[in-house]
Amino acid sequence: MESEISASSGGRAVFLDRDGTIIEDVGYASSLDQLAIYPETIGALHELKEAGFRLIVVSNQSGVARGLIDPSFPDEALRRLRETLTWNGAPLLDGGYHCPHHPEAEVEQFRRDCECRKPEPGMLLDAARDFDVDLSRSYVVGDHFSDVETAHRVGASGVLVLTGHGMHHVTKLDQVEPIARPDFVATDILEAARWIILHRQHR
Ligand SMILES: [Mg+2]
Ligand SMILES: [Zn+2]
Repeated sequence: MESEISASSGGRAVFLDRDGTIIEDVGYASSLDQLAIYPETIGALHELKEAGFRLIVVSNQSGVARGLIDPSFPDEALRRLRETLTWNGAPLLDGGYHCPHHPEAEVEQFRRDCECRKPEPGMLLDAARDFDVDLSRSYVVGDHFSDVETAHRVGASGVLVLTGHGMHHVTKLDQVEPIARPDFVATDILEAARWIILHRQHR
């Protein structure tokens, strides 16, 4: 099952921001009971999976650096999301990466200018290697312009969703640097998924 999917995926992936994109952004979620999956998420992920995309979470978790989140929690959260977001018993999410760093962190261990905190593209580059992804045919979906910029830094496309902080950010669309301008603005993850599925047929 897993190998059939990868064989038909052709190396395309959709990188999904976590907070404000597939789950509610509650501000530094630090326990499993705070993970509130949007009702549109499962359908969106299923449609993307059917269309042959790898689905990979990429999440800035500076709450770890700020001492607000246990360093083990982002992985625990990913495990829970993979267990919960399934179709016919198979997880829809292929994997995930998170950045625990922040340049002005409270916690010294995580205080650095890293290459993984979005808009730096380190997580995408790691995923491209680990999952054999063709970034030029891939997408990032997120609720911040930094998600979009991450995509464009590696030649992928970026979709801004209006959930999470998206509705606030979109009001500043005309002030944004070209590299962070979204290829599409979607109401939510489901509209983003449908645009991606239509759009990739023309590439
Ligand atoms: Mg977000
Ligand atoms: Zn980092």
